[in-house]
Amino acid sequence: MPRPIVASISISALQHNLAVARAHAPGARVWGVLKANGYGHGLERAMRGFAAADGLALIEPDYAVRLRELGWTKPILLLEGFFDADDLPVLAQHDIQFAVHCEEQIAQLEAFTAAASLHAHLKMNSGMNRLGFKPETYRAAYARLQKIPSVASITLMTHFANADDAGNPLLPLAEQVRRFQAGSEGLDGPRSLCNSAADLMHAELANDWVRPGVMLYGGTPGGGSAADFGLRAAMTLESRIIGIQQVPAGEAIGYGSRFVADKPMKIGVVACGYADGYPRHAPNGTPVLVDGVKTGTVGRVSMDMLTVDLTHIPDADVGSQVELWGSKLPIDEVAYAAGTIGYELMCALAPRVAVREVD
Ligand SMILES: *Cc1c(COP(=O)(O)O)cnc(C)c1O
Repeated sequence: MPRPIVASISISALQHNLAVARAHAPGARVWGVLKANGYGHGLERAMRGFAAADGLALIEPDYAVRLRELGWTKPILLLEGFFDADDLPVLAQHDIQFAVHCEEQIAQLEAFTAAASLHAHLKMNSGMNRLGFKPETYRAAYARLQKIPSVASITLMTHFANADDAGNPLLPLAEQVRRFQAGSEGLDGPRSLCNSAADLMHAELANDWVRPGVMLYGGTPGGGSAADFGLRAAMTLESRIIGIQQVPAGEAIGYGSRFVADKPMKIGVVACGYADGYPRHAPNGTPVLVDGVKTGTVGRVSMDMLTVDLTHIPDADVGSQVELWGSKLPIDEVAYAAGTIGYELMCALAPRVAVREVD
């Protein structure tokens, strides 16, 4: 007898959102980004949802190989490249493309003398200051890569820090674009710049390839709601009320007695806790739907349960349906209330939660 918590994953929502990504970047090829287990939706399900993508991009080399075993024949890209020179024969064998972001990786490629046809994506640090070559060292890195016999192609790649907030004074989007153009001008090869936010809001930057992630799952990358962008939630997390307490005014609820009833309250206990991936730091009032009616959490989220106010929902009872996030309650709304982003909530869905595929 399973716990009542279930995550429903909609394959048609994944397909729909991919079509939205493509419509915003009509001339570009699309990498469906499915790192972190398809942002929590399951690698294999995401692969099927993105069957129409031109390629799949992720971080984990073992999952990249898994995609080949699952039958994906189109391009696969490792967004952080390889982590060890020993990975190179495996990547060559499975035709897995990879980012090259540092001198050490170039040296490892130079030392890899086996006959192979490798596809490198040379990453520029255009201001994010995470991975990549600075614009002024980019050309030299490109020239070194070009001399390596096993490197068959070089794609020029960068990643934006503020595509959802183009005017950010610390690093405007236009400044990253300017640096990328200056550092890569005249170099041969396809360009790959846009994440979801750039894909949705800066179609003019769509180049040869775009790399949408969170939007494909129906989460917003910022700059508007998912619904504003015509996206559909791919994950709906539902559970049920498993207990009811009538709590008198002045009594507290849950660990640490963080919430004290200021009037007689009807409290519902939901079979969902932080061990399911629900954020423990969600404050009182984080939105929840009970039988389709909006209410909020009260008291601390515990490992296996959370508590919600049912005072204004007289019909709610043990067995009532609860939506934690998804098709009727946007994940971003829950995330915002909890001081995080939809990305984190979807990625954190715990393995113990049963998953059901829906259309
Ligand atoms: C994760 C990732 C993306 C996708 O980002 P979203 O904001 O989810 O669209 C694109 N490019 C790179 C390099 C990434 O690591």
